Amino acid sequence: MIKSLKYIMLSALVTACAGNTSVPADEFQYNDERFADLQMLRYKVEGFDSLTLNQKTLIYHLSEAALYGRDILFDQNGKYNLRIMRTLETVYTDFAGDKQSEDFKALEVYLKRVWFSAGIHHHYGSEKFVPGFSEEFFRDAVKSVDASKLPLLEGQTVDELLAVICPVMFDPAVMPKRINLAEGEDLILTSASNYYDGVTQAEAEAFYAKMKDPQNEQPVMYGMNSRLVKDADGVVKELRWTTDGLYGEALTKIVACLERAIPYAEDDQQKAVIEKLIEYYKSGDLKTFDDYTILWVNNTEPLIDFVNGFTESYGDPLGLKASWESIVNFKDVEATKRTVALSDNAQWFEDNSPVDDQFKKEEVKGVTAKVITAAILGGDLYPSTAIGINLPNSDWVRKEHGSKSVTIANLTSAYSKAAAGNGFMEEFTYSQAEIDLMKKYGDITDDLHTDLHECLGHGSGKLLPGVESDSLKAYGSTIEEARADLFGLYYLADAKLQELGLTPDGEAYKAQYYSYIQNGLLTQLVRINLGNDIEEAHMRNRAIIARWAYEHGKADNVIELVKRDGKTFVKVNDYEKLRGLFGELLAEVQRIKSTGDLAAAQALVENYGVKIEPELHKEILDRYAHLDLAPYKGFINPVYTAVKDENGNIIDVKIDYTEGYADQMLRYSSDYRTLPHVN
Ligand code: ZN
Repeated sequence: MIKSLKYIMLSALVTACAGNTSVPADEFQYNDERFADLQMLRYKVEGFDSLTLNQKTLIYHLSEAALYGRDILFDQNGKYNLRIMRTLETVYTDFAGDKQSEDFKALEVYLKRVWFSAGIHHHYGSEKFVPGFSEEFFRDAVKSVDASKLPLLEGQTVDELLAVICPVMFDPAVMPKRINLAEGEDLILTSASNYYDGVTQAEAEAFYAKMKDPQNEQPVMYGMNSRLVKDADGVVKELRWTTDGLYGEALTKIVACLERAIPYAEDDQQKAVIEKLIEYYKSGDLKTFDDYTILWVNNTEPLIDFVNGFTESYGDPLGLKASWESIVNFKDVEATKRTVALSDNAQWFEDNSPVDDQFKKEEVKGVTAKVITAAILGGDLYPSTAIGINLPNSDWVRKEHGSKSVTIANLTSAYSKAAAGNGFMEEFTYSQAEIDLMKKYGDITDDLHTDLHECLGHGSGKLLPGVESDSLKAYGSTIEEARADLFGLYYLADAKLQELGLTPDGEAYKAQYYSYIQNGLLTQLVRINLGNDIEEAHMRNRAIIARWAYEHGKADNVIELVKRDGKTFVKVNDYEKLRGLFGELLAEVQRIKSTGDLAAAQALVENYGVKIEPELHKEILDRYAHLDLAPYKGFINPVYTAVKDENGNIIDVKIDYTEGYADQMLRYSSDYRTLPHVN
């Protein structure tokens, strides 16, 4: 599971320095180029230089393994993606015509979007891109370059290649969506992703229904590492992704890098983790995969850790097939102390919460969320990425062996540094006092709120005997997120956090309170198109909390909506009372969850979490449009270079941040190219 960006993260939450003392400007360039609806950012691998040579070498080999999976994701996202990307790249580098023409510039933007999304569909909305250049221009351009550099199949002419890819690129009716979730349609036939070929949704569902054994308490994740196809005789079968199966060329490269990493593993257990992963990549056996995840989840000592494999299934409309991704990271030891402190005191937090005693856990176990520094991103985590990850995804493994929850601190920090000075905070904040508050405490309290949410919030409370865990139906996830957020909000203002050394003083929590209410009442609306409702569970939860607190604090004027020059601002008049309101709502939300009160859940969500006042929505969208900011962001990776002695031994690993976006993508396409044009 991934954790998405908590806020829109456009607010400039830079840690301010006291007074006017001059602090050397951070010369690192967080912002890079911008195109279409995308802003490219860079992240700093803080602490890399102080790692040992052994650790750097391990990261180097694992990062190579992360990059060799790139082609897999392109092919998973659509069967023509590799051919389209390779054709575009040849035109982009070899076109001899006018590279300043509007058509060529539009082709460049289109290619950058294809790289970003690993395919021709939007990474977030999943709709197909509309090329800004004409089909005629494209055909002429493709015909003008050296045909030997085009992704032609054996005996194929350039015209034949164009006949295949042009409709896919230019005809709006062909493969319009990567994932279609519209009820009533055949979700597999209408989705462009390449996880099924020639089978209908009914056939796929029947195929996997047969595998399910309700008696088995440790079921493997059926179907997660294969494409489902129909063979010549009409038999439905799986093509597994293994070193000698589908995607074998890429997986063989990945395995070779993993093998080179083994001697540098930080302990024997980590060595066993890597060996088991290799065994799984070779056999494709899902029981072996479960064994691997159990080893992985228990391997908590090493500084360096990684994810490498078929992991998340958001790209499959049936939620079975997992896209390939990788991240290599190392522990942020200082920041992890924070989550350990919370976890160690989990029982205190449970006992002292404003929740009714009958809904509290007698024995609560906090989750230690590790704070990590990302060293490289690959596959489905690149360039668009999560800021937190919680794995493994297998339910029974999670239940019996636990999970690893990580927060990727250098990425969240890059988001907020990149946003500094973009005008968002100034546009939507009531006065300089609130801006100063958020600049001073925003980063700390934002991280702390996430920690409280993850380490304690979700794990607190209990269901009354006889209450089913799914009794809140479609409202369940919104209520659950609200519960975790409220737990965090309530405790942010508690003296206990100062006592634990987690907040600097009694003022800090106000920064989070202000930005939370501001986001829930106003700024999160920028992510929703005019006329639409709030649908996503996290966004609904934030709206509920902010709007409920606004309404229930009205008598005491706790929160005010102030209009100035036709613009609406949030003003918090009484932070202490606001904390009281958070506590009150936490108690109620816990009661709803513990008793399975579906009617109350429905009322809370429908009354506070769904509808948007059109006039306010339009105002917020207009103000946001004025700022001209890119709604989506992604990261350029650093470049690692192994310095070798005359015997080929690695004697150092250098890190460099200067590579440009297009250069990086072209280099990956050539140096990490593994798969044929058709798979
Ligand atoms: Zn959550």
